[in-house]
Amino acid sequence: MNTSDWDVIVIGAGPAGSTSAALLAEKGHRVLVLDKEKFPRYHIGESMMPFCWFTLDRLGLVDQMDKIGFQQKHSVQFVTMEGKMSRPFYFFQHYDHPSATTWQVERQEFDQMIIDKAVSNGAEFYDQTKVVAPIHNDAGSVVGVVAERDGERHELHAKLVVDASGRECFYASKNKWRKRDPHLSKVAIWTYYEGAVRDPGLDAGSTTVAYIPEKGWFWYIPMRDNKVSVGLVAENGYLFREGRDPAEIMDREIKENVWIQEHLAPGKQVGEYWVTGDYSYRSDYCATDGVVLVGDAFAFLDPVFSSGVFLALKSGEIAADAIDEALVAGDTSAERFEAYGHKVCEAIERMRKIVCAFYHPDFSFAKLVKNNPDLRPTLTDLLIGDIFVENQNFDALFDAVREICELPDDLEYGFKVKAADAVPLAG
Ligand SMILES: Cc1cc2nc3c(=O)[nH]c(=O)nc-3n(C[C@H](O)[C@H](O)[C@H](O)COP(=O)(O)OP(=O)(O)OC[C@H]3O[C@@H](n4cnc5c(N)ncnc54)[C@H](O)[C@@H]3O)c2cc1C
Repeated sequence: MNTSDWDVIVIGAGPAGSTSAALLAEKGHRVLVLDKEKFPRYHIGESMMPFCWFTLDRLGLVDQMDKIGFQQKHSVQFVTMEGKMSRPFYFFQHYDHPSATTWQVERQEFDQMIIDKAVSNGAEFYDQTKVVAPIHNDAGSVVGVVAERDGERHELHAKLVVDASGRECFYASKNKWRKRDPHLSKVAIWTYYEGAVRDPGLDAGSTTVAYIPEKGWFWYIPMRDNKVSVGLVAENGYLFREGRDPAEIMDREIKENVWIQEHLAPGKQVGEYWVTGDYSYRSDYCATDGVVLVGDAFAFLDPVFSSGVFLALKSGEIAADAIDEALVAGDTSAERFEAYGHKVCEAIERMRKIVCAFYHPDFSFAKLVKNNPDLRPTLTDLLIGDIFVENQNFDALFDAVREICELPDDLEYGFKVKAADAVPLAG
């Protein structure tokens, strides 16, 4: 293993870490990426948001997305329990740009593509290498990591560490910074079907959100090769009320939605069932001296609107720009990342409001759009991921939502940074 000193060590080769790595390596910084898994590896999070396009374009990967041949996605649609479908939100009806066509991706290929790009830009990548501890200097700043590979431990030093470790939240967990979002506590169960119904034409790759009782919902994500990703998200108490067997729960809930039942009827379930709880959270801080948190390692928002990969790509990108400036200035202190934290949290809060509304018993998109037809374009801006524009005004939309249901206050943490000497650091 190459134990020379690095400019940046990135923990995790998901979309967030690999994006930061690719952009920093492109700028000429010495970048090392470590991932504990053997790549390519399976991951959930398959449905993309249109605005992923812009980061992929900056990475020079849009043509490759098309070459790989991922299922194209043109819209999102919502289906009632009785099987009544909303008018689909076709992205191209909202704006005329190549990003209006997005994708449903097999994450093993998607993530491999981005880490390959980072490597071709000059980053070094070791998979099957687990980061087990941060290394601190006397002032408490992080100056590297301890990593385990083939049973051996290595001390690796860098000017800055990017924590892109996903839901494992390497640094936030070690420092007890990871806080659940009290308004969004859900459980997800998912699996795959082959040979299930595919809607015709443009709708063949549409993401469908299909309701079940108590504001639970199914995702139905058509992928390549006649495969569909099918998942179920609801409150713990609702899903596990009769037992904990995921297959039984899935079969029981399929019967709760006519559209899902009909679409899955000719299909065959394949592979295992997956379960995850502890849904939405955010770290108290986005950075401390020598560490920046990106993607799910920083914050996770219930992905009902497929925002996860987009937020991973975008936070990876914004962090990379801030890190580049910090490295050029020779100052990787926490305060350099304040603007990064504010920008990412502001965007997440915009998305979070509509996610919280979605789960409110009084809210429906049909009601919102019927009461406020003029706000459909603003709503679509949110649903495509156009949420990073500074001073962009969603107030009218959220006021209209508040006429239907209450919205929670913004979380008061996440955007802040923590100076190293002020925190008792673990590790
Ligand atoms: C049920 C569910 C459904 C979802 N559906 C969607 C969807 O449809 N669309 C969407 O956009 N998003 C979805 N998401 C969210 C999406 O999966 C994530 O937001 C996205 O993968 C975040 O990317 P990341 O790069 O931050 O982390 P990850 O993709 O999780 O990558 C983190 C990497 O870090 C590595 N790692 C962790 N710890 C260590 C360590 N100690 N040392 C070394 N390596 C380490 C891991 O092996 C992993 O490869 C969903 C999430 C869930 C849970």
